[in-house]
Amino acid sequence: MTLRVYNTLTRKKEDFVPIEPNKVKMYVCGPTVYNYIHIGNGRPVIFFDVVRRYLESQNYEVTYITNFTDVDDKMIRKAEELGQTVPELAETFIQAFLEDIRALGVNEATKNPRVTENIHEIIDFIAALVDTGYAYESGGDVYYRTTKFEEYGKLSHQNLDELQYGIRIEVDDRKENPQDFVLWKAAKPGEIYWDSPWGQGRPGWHIECSAMVRKYLGETIDIHGGGQDLTFPHHECEIAQTEAVTGHPMANYWMHNAFLNIDNEKMSKSLGNGILIRDLIQRLKPQVFRFFMLSAHYRNPLNFSDESLKQAANGLERIQNAYDNLKHRLDTASQTGEVEAAITDRIAAIARQFDDKMDDDFNTPDAITAVFDLVAEANLYLQQERVNGTAVQQFLDQLQAFDAVLGLLSQAADELLDEEIEQLIVERTEARKTKNWARADEIRDLLTEKGIFLEDTPQGIRWRRK
Ligand code: AMP
Ligand code: ZN
Repeated sequence: MTLRVYNTLTRKKEDFVPIEPNKVKMYVCGPTVYNYIHIGNGRPVIFFDVVRRYLESQNYEVTYITNFTDVDDKMIRKAEELGQTVPELAETFIQAFLEDIRALGVNEATKNPRVTENIHEIIDFIAALVDTGYAYESGGDVYYRTTKFEEYGKLSHQNLDELQYGIRIEVDDRKENPQDFVLWKAAKPGEIYWDSPWGQGRPGWHIECSAMVRKYLGETIDIHGGGQDLTFPHHECEIAQTEAVTGHPMANYWMHNAFLNIDNEKMSKSLGNGILIRDLIQRLKPQVFRFFMLSAHYRNPLNFSDESLKQAANGLERIQNAYDNLKHRLDTASQTGEVEAAITDRIAAIARQFDDKMDDDFNTPDAITAVFDLVAEANLYLQQERVNGTAVQQFLDQLQAFDAVLGLLSQAADELLDEEIEQLIVERTEARKTKNWARADEIRDLLTEKGIFLEDTPQGIRWRRK
């Protein structure tokens, strides 16, 4: 099957055709770095990481850019509150963000550009819009002239008239039209600023992504992503800015994740039900949260509750146990050789099932079902007394291939657990009793290799880690 992606622009699932064969240029809007991220912010972070990993598993070379908004009104207000400079505040929360997402098993982006590193490019972009009549200066601010961009509203499927009446936009004398949006904001006294052709000021929010997409990825990219609240106005404005300047589509596929709710309520400051990722992962394994995120399709709302976390923990444990058992049996399997065709075929069929589900607009819950099918087959196989190490390796390779996409397994699984060590020691003692010296030596060697040392004492065997 070919990969099909739901495109917010056309409201349809479309075949995925990259601009350049085997390459994907992808941009996901990143956080404003004035606070720790909450569990809702974790959804785009984890989901788009999985999109990127899946594309890589299909041999695409992915350039993945996600930005930091390190200057805006919220940053200025918060820095003032804390008695810090805006760059100091940004540095703290950029590091915190990177720490949090690393804990969630998110792969590092190709680049995380910051607004403050791209002021020059942003000013150039705005200047091009002013030169072509798509923007106008007004009292030291610069605004986008939405009436000039005929397709304004195409992403969120609204027209200008609807926009005018449909949403509450504050009347502002500096604007020609209420729906015009700011590209450059004049600095108030004491605020951080940069010099520009329109005086001292800073960029508005939307323009940064247009400037960074063009600089780091080019005029048209393959995938542009973010949470569904970004569709309007943020992405609509990005399209208006970029397409006015380049005359080409900004992105071929616009992808938006639905929201995470808590106990079926919207997460919001006024409800006071926000949970920070760093607090959550104090009380549960980050992989449980990751599993939970992927247990729903990204375009469906997802409900965070104790019950759903419990289910995620159980599901994850089944996969982790199978992985640990396979590792253990691989280490102790005494025979290798040809694998029964039925097993190889079954593993290949499950791998196809996984890809088919991911190809269907990244259907992670159904892809996880394929992982469970593999786990069930592996568990059944391991019930046999004598296993073929080559078959065990095939199960393990497939589970690892799935995990390269989903990122759920604990790295620590490479180490032997205490119970596994005890179990091997018992097996070794049995082997010696039955004079199976080869097997006894094999187990000793394996333990040595894993840094476990055995010591014969009058009370029996003692073991210690190196
Ligand atoms: P914000 O910090 O609100 O600018 O959000 C940063 C990113 O997280 C954006 O892509 C938002 O769409 C996304 N986001 C914020 N809240 C949620 C939520 N409750 N569920 C899913 N995504 C969210
Ligand atoms: Zn953006």
